[in-house]
Amino acid sequence: MTDMRPIEEVDSEVAGLIRGDLTRQNTHIHLIASENFASPAVMEACGSIFTNKYAEGYPGRRYYEGCEWVDRLEQLAIDRAKALFDGEYVNVQPHSGAQANMGVYFAFLEPGDKVLGLSLAEGGHLTHGSPVNFSGRFYRFIPYGVDRASERIDMNEVRSKALEHRPKIVLAGYSAYSRHLDYQAFRSIADEIGALFMVDAAHFIGLVAGKASPNPVPLADIVTATTHKALRGPRGGMIIAKEGYGKELNKGVFPDMQGGPIISQIAGKAVCYQEASTAGFRSYAAQIVANASAMAAAFTERGVRVVSGGTDNHLLLLDMRSIDPDLTGKEAATLLDSMGITLNRNGIPYDPRPPYITSGLRIGTSGITTCGMKEAQAVQVADLITRSLRHRADDETLKRLSGEISDLAQAFPPYPPDFPGHA
Ligand SMILES: *Cc1c(COP(=O)(O)O)cnc(C)c1O
Repeated sequence: MTDMRPIEEVDSEVAGLIRGDLTRQNTHIHLIASENFASPAVMEACGSIFTNKYAEGYPGRRYYEGCEWVDRLEQLAIDRAKALFDGEYVNVQPHSGAQANMGVYFAFLEPGDKVLGLSLAEGGHLTHGSPVNFSGRFYRFIPYGVDRASERIDMNEVRSKALEHRPKIVLAGYSAYSRHLDYQAFRSIADEIGALFMVDAAHFIGLVAGKASPNPVPLADIVTATTHKALRGPRGGMIIAKEGYGKELNKGVFPDMQGGPIISQIAGKAVCYQEASTAGFRSYAAQIVANASAMAAAFTERGVRVVSGGTDNHLLLLDMRSIDPDLTGKEAATLLDSMGITLNRNGIPYDPRPPYITSGLRIGTSGITTCGMKEAQAVQVADLITRSLRHRADDETLKRLSGEISDLAQAFPPYPPDFPGHA
């Protein structure tokens, strides 16, 4: 018989760790650009009895019996995502963003095939050809970068590399780049060489859902995404594509790359698509962008250099050398976390320091916007970061600033203090 008691009674050790992290989440200011805070409804779906079901295959074509509710659930998630993103084909099974990309590569590439993608050092992702990732081990990635002066993607470079190397896939998308992508230009380049045009929208699909960023779906052949970043859903991946690629993509995900889909996560995805289709989510997405712009302006006013001079989306990159030539991203991120502001160090274009150290910080506004912060608080956060870094040798000032950070964080917590798990 399954033990029906609550987790506090069954496993106080894990329950205590959950409570510990809830307190951390509720008392820090969270600026990690890939993170967000899912709703109780999303988490309830993910923690539901759907965790028990095996359902290899797709709705109506399963390898297991007992899939009548699962079929309706997965189809609902697919239909909602199609409506939200104007997609012809949707796959909600990838376990993560990395799995979504792997599914696409498995569907359309043979080992050794070429892909043109944004260089990792200039904002690309691990799955865009890093030598320590399967993508870099199986396929030949040709990187394009950003222009040294504008720090924006140079479409002339993309085109000349495409013509020279003739990749099978032209890939646009990023983890650390703050400007709109020129989908039309990427589309033309892919057409010129007969390549597929793929967009990895993992970071900004939430802004697309909320109509705060242009939708790549109409112009791209294939769009991959995560559901847990700006979209504020459960951890997971998804693929949106033109109908004609559906058969290969279905196979690329299952059985090429995964076994059974995680049905409970798909339940969470269905709830998040529903949440993201509301007017409230559209104001949320607009506020994310407004907060990032306000923060970029506040940093610039305070003499902190923002890479490319600003942002069009939810993230910005700061050059720590504008505060002090000796200040590294690593030192800055460690100090800020100890003071209650959680973010990550990040390489900036043409960074002379290695990836483990870096000269930059990456900041995202999806999380603080979920917590209800607006432009005034975004400016306050920029101010607290700048003052903390400038006074990093002055313990008295740092102590005072920590207090201010803690007050601001606790005025905007993501969850109520009596949220389940915080008993
Ligand atoms: C986050 C991210 C991914 C991977 O998502 P995971 O769910 O962490 O596997 C893929 N591509 C880009 C551009 C990302 O930012």
